[in-house]
Amino acid sequence: MNTFRLRLKKGVKNIKKVLGGKMQMTTRQKYHALIGSIMPVHVLLLVVFYVFHVTPMFIFNIFSVLTYLFCFWLMRGEREHYLAIYYIAYIEIILHSFAASICIGWQFGFAQYIIAIVPVGFYICYTLEIKRYRFTIATLSAVFSAVAFLACKFLSFFGEPVVILDNIALELVLYVFNSLCAFTFLIIFSLIFIFEIKLSSNQLKHQNAILDKLASTDPLTGLYNRRSMDIFLSQAVETESNFALIMCDIDDFKKVNDTYGHDFGDVVLKGVASITAEQVKEKGYVCRWGGEEILILLNNASEENTFRIAENIRRNVSNRMFDLNEKWIHCSLTLGIAFHHTNEAVEETITRADYKLYRGKRSGKNVVIM
Ligand code: GH3
Ligand code: MG
Ligand code: MG
Repeated sequence: MNTFRLRLKKGVKNIKKVLGGKMQMTTRQKYHALIGSIMPVHVLLLVVFYVFHVTPMFIFNIFSVLTYLFCFWLMRGEREHYLAIYYIAYIEIILHSFAASICIGWQFGFAQYIIAIVPVGFYICYTLEIKRYRFTIATLSAVFSAVAFLACKFLSFFGEPVVILDNIALELVLYVFNSLCAFTFLIIFSLIFIFEIKLSSNQLKHQNAILDKLASTDPLTGLYNRRSMDIFLSQAVETESNFALIMCDIDDFKKVNDTYGHDFGDVVLKGVASITAEQVKEKGYVCRWGGEEILILLNNASEENTFRIAENIRRNVSNRMFDLNEKWIHCSLTLGIAFHHTNEAVEETITRADYKLYRGKRSGKNVVIM
C-alpha cells in the first residue's frame, strides 16, 4: 500500500513537472502514454460489442488489443521501433473506423478517431528522431486521414450496416463515448505540445543566461569584464547620475608572480576581487579593467561614502593573508578616486582616477588618493 502511495506521489510529481515545463517526457514515455491510452478504449469496446452481439467488431477489437500488445512488445529492449509503432497505430485506427462505420453505421461516431489522430501524427513525427521526411509523413498522413474520414461517410451512406443495432440509447452512448475519447486525445496531445514548447523556451532562457554570464564576466575573478563596464559607464553617463570611479591596482604584483609563481598571483587576484566585490555589493559595479587592475563604479556616490568604501577595501586587502600550498603572503592595493563631472567624457574621469592611482603609487603605495 505504501509503495503504491509512493508511486502515485511520484507519478503526480512527474506530471506536475511535465506540465510546469520542467521535465521532458522521453520518447518511450510518450509512446507508452499513446498506446496505454488507446488499449483500454479497445478493451471497453470489445466488451460492448460482445454484450450487444456485434461479432465482427468484437473479433476486430481482439485483434486491436493484440496489435497494441505487440506495440508494447516492440518497445522493449534497446532497439525501439517508434516509426513502425506510429504506422501500426495509424493503420489500426483508420481500419477500425472503416470497420465500425461499415458494420454498425456512421452514426456511432467511430470515424471521429480519424480526426483525432491528425495532430497526434504531427506531434509524433515532429518529436521523432528521424530528421528527414517527418513533415512529409505527417502531412501525407493528415491528407490520407481526411480522405479516409470522407470514405467512411460515403461507404456507410451508400450501403446498409452489416449488423443492424436498433438501439437509440446505445447509439447515443457510443457516440458520446467516442467523441469524448477523440477530444481527450486532441486535448492531451495539444497540451503536451504546448508544454514541450514551454520546456524548450525555458531551456533556451537558461542557456542564454549562461551565455550572458560568460560574455559579461571575467572567468578568473568572476568580476564583470571591461565590455560590461563600458555599458555600465555609458548608462551612468546617460542617466546623469553622480557616480564615482575607483581605479585599483595591486602593489608589486610582478614580484608576487616572479617569487611565488603565476598560480599564486592568480590566488591573490581572486582574493582581492572578492574583497572588492564584497565591499561594493549593490552600491555599484566592479570590473577587471586590465591585468591586475580593478575599476569600481559607485552610483550616487558621496565623497564620504566613496572614500570609506575605498579605504575598507585597502585595509581588508592589506590585513588579509593569501595562501597557496601552505605559503602565506601579504599584499597591498593602491586606489585612485575620481568623481564624474557633468558634461565630462567618461574617459576623462577614468584618466583622472588613473592619475590619482599613479600618485598613490609614487607616494609609497597601499593608499587611497581622492
Ligand atoms: P605596481 O605596484 O607599480 O603596480 O607594480 P606591479 O608589479 O604590480 O606592476 P604592474 O601593475 O605593471 O604589474 C602587472 C603584472 O600583473 C604583470 C603581469 O604579469 C601580471 N598579471 C596580469 N594579469 C595576470 C593574471 O591574470 N594572473 C597573474 N598571476 N598575473 C597577472
Ligand atoms: Mg600593480
Ligand atoms: Mg597594473
